Amino acid sequence: MENWEAYVRKVVPYVPGEQPQDERMIKLNTNENPYPPAPGVLRALKEFDTDKLRLYPEPTCKVLVDAIAKNYGLDSDQVFVGVGSDDVLAMIFLTFFNSKKPVLFPDITYSFYDVWSNMLRIPYEVRALDENFLIKKEDYYGENGGVIFPNPNAPTGILMELSEIEDIIAHNRDVIVVVDEAYIDFGGVSALPLIEKYDNLLVVQTFSKSRSLAGMRVGYAMGNPKLIRYINDVKYSFNSYTMNQTALALGVEAIRDGAYFEETRQKIIDTREWTKKKLKALGFKFGDSMSNFIFAAHERVPAKELFEALRKKHIYVRYFSKERIDNYLRISIGTREEMETFVEFLENYLQ
Ligand SMILES: *Cc1c(COP(=O)(O)O)cnc(C)c1O
Repeated sequence: MENWEAYVRKVVPYVPGEQPQDERMIKLNTNENPYPPAPGVLRALKEFDTDKLRLYPEPTCKVLVDAIAKNYGLDSDQVFVGVGSDDVLAMIFLTFFNSKKPVLFPDITYSFYDVWSNMLRIPYEVRALDENFLIKKEDYYGENGGVIFPNPNAPTGILMELSEIEDIIAHNRDVIVVVDEAYIDFGGVSALPLIEKYDNLLVVQTFSKSRSLAGMRVGYAMGNPKLIRYINDVKYSFNSYTMNQTALALGVEAIRDGAYFEETRQKIIDTREWTKKKLKALGFKFGDSMSNFIFAAHERVPAKELFEALRKKHIYVRYFSKERIDNYLRISIGTREEMETFVEFLENYLQ
């Protein structure tokens, strides 16, 4: 080993879902939205004045922060925006998880949490989900350096009751509790109202799933103004210009169009419920997903075999070769037509 290598920050990186360059594919592997962004997004992109690109973006991201705050009935100083919620969450880890006590999160959850912890040298402990993949709230009551979990959880899709989330927050007033609500718009109840009651709560959401903007990278955190100020201090110490000019302009349009948002999310919810019925009839078992994906195991055929058979037919789902979940497929909800093709394939394959 060369001498300099002793001083490299060695990390085991997060592995994002595959983005195959396959013309004919049905892509159900990264929980993207199958519908295009709101019409106003296209309009804003067409009308975008490229001369603006000479200039740095407005660093406080005011137009977008204001639009998000307005949508939720918040004050602008209760909102922080970043380059997707991954950026927002990484800033939150950096800002708030500086205790010597371990940060707590579930053993089966968003696989970026342990990556950030390792990279930032944050001690952490995982708490096992129960045999039905439910989070046990009591596991998060002990002393810790912070708590984070998605609701609904990923990749299980299972939603936790708001009262249980409140119990976790109330038992952790000395640390920051982060509820990662990447999928909350697909049928869950947001913890957002609790930010008025608990000054240690951050609710994180994203435009990537329910607002069809995964490619634009817009995420946000909501919490009391003091928390938001602390995250901004870290952001300005790291990279002042996180949001580019187009993300700011298009993000505003994405959140402004409430009617389009309602229409597309309802279509996804309906298609999810249709897909659940079909999968059940085919012998799959799964928790009651309240997200835009279903995490399912077949009673007979191993998940890996199904994953590979689907792939050969240009149908991409997600498979995790991780203990406890290596017999499950995570199937994102596409359009009704895409899900019909998917189900048809399974009907033939499994008969
Ligand atoms: C998709 C996802 C994110 C990150 O989404 P961004 O595209 O970075 O906004 C964060 N948390 C969970 C649980 C997710 O599934």
